[in-house]
Amino acid sequence: MISVHDAVTMILETITPQAGERVGLLEAGGRILAEEIRSEREVPPFANSAMDGYAVRWDDIQHATATDPTSLSVLEVIQAGAVPIQAVMIGTASKIMTGAVMPHGADTVVRIEDTEEYEGHVRIKRSEFSGTHVRASGEDIHRGQVVLDKGRVLRPADIGLLASVGRSLVLVHQRPRVAILSTGNELAEVDEALRPGQIVNSNAYTLAAAVREVGGIPVPLVIARDTLAEIRAALGEAARHDVVLSTGGVSVGDFDFVKAAMDELGMHRLFWQVAQRPGKPLTFGLLRERPYFGLPGNPVSALVCFYLYVRPALRRMMGHTKLFPPVVSATVGEDLPKAKGLTEFVRCRLTLKDGHYTAHSTGTQSSGVLSSLSLGEGLMIGPAEYPLLPKGMHIKVLILDGDEFAGSDAPF
Ligand code: AMP
Ligand code: MG
Repeated sequence: MISVHDAVTMILETITPQAGERVGLLEAGGRILAEEIRSEREVPPFANSAMDGYAVRWDDIQHATATDPTSLSVLEVIQAGAVPIQAVMIGTASKIMTGAVMPHGADTVVRIEDTEEYEGHVRIKRSEFSGTHVRASGEDIHRGQVVLDKGRVLRPADIGLLASVGRSLVLVHQRPRVAILSTGNELAEVDEALRPGQIVNSNAYTLAAAVREVGGIPVPLVIARDTLAEIRAALGEAARHDVVLSTGGVSVGDFDFVKAAMDELGMHRLFWQVAQRPGKPLTFGLLRERPYFGLPGNPVSALVCFYLYVRPALRRMMGHTKLFPPVVSATVGEDLPKAKGLTEFVRCRLTLKDGHYTAHSTGTQSSGVLSSLSLGEGLMIGPAEYPLLPKGMHIKVLILDGDEFAGSDAPF
């Protein structure tokens, strides 16, 4: 039996980022860049007006005030998307719209609100300073500049940057295809009537949602029954995908054939059993370099192992560098029993008071009780050496429900 820390380390040592694929910008949001992006252009590509107003020479208008305006003759109206025809020379101005190209000779824009038009002329009633309301060419991005680094998680502003530098396709890490294999004679599909002794194969749905939440592509497979031959065949089939997750059949029962099937397939098994609760029977191996996670069958154990081990691995495969869930410090809300010698992950709910978190157990911690995982947003990490988690103890809590931090119920 190995420690949680060793299990994470051993798994991640075997994981490398997926190859890149070119995707269109509409599909690139949330993906991770597998290339560095340099701009081949200036953004904006030309000096332009930031306001609707008049393009002028600062020298002409620097003394203009409301009581002593400067009059200029108007050469033309420059619309956004058009190219100016005339150069602005002493005593002249061109009317210009936001985003339109600055005409030669002009260095400053005066806002419409500070002017008055009359008979082919304009009265300038205010001067701010030289160059006001002009956006210089390359003000946002220069040619040759690195716009986005490799490993960047593409957010909407990043996608806009890529568009403005003219990149319609970008290289991002492939999303891993994750096979999900459920094992067990007792399992029925969600829409089947349950016969005596049967339960719904909930793990397949839980894990498919978890894989999708991380950004992977879940591939649920048909249920494998508890025979060595069937599990071996199913595992062999599953190993065509980038990652394999199985649930069940890794304990010490008479019909737990997953480990034996792994061995028969020639899998390199790195470990079996981790000193933790829930999730102790976890096993991990490699078949043709593909990671294989043998998750326990109990619904909570399977999902907790997913968060602890599978999720970081999938994130590394997708090119992320921040692999682990966020951790907050909290105080234990009530005395909690725990197994000595095992790291215990206690399903909990966090309350925040005066900037301080308290963690309360969500109830029964049996590894079959999924509702207590559904109720909470985190997992307290009870250190292996403790026989009990006393009320008031400082403890780390893994945050599983990102929404708790991504959203607020109060307006700002
Ligand atoms: P096992 O690890 O195969 O001994 O299974 C442990 C417990 O998890 C048993 O009570 C199983 O019925 C249950 N279990 C196994 N697989 C699933 C599944 N796919 N969905 C829901 N429960 C499961
Ligand atoms: Mg089983």
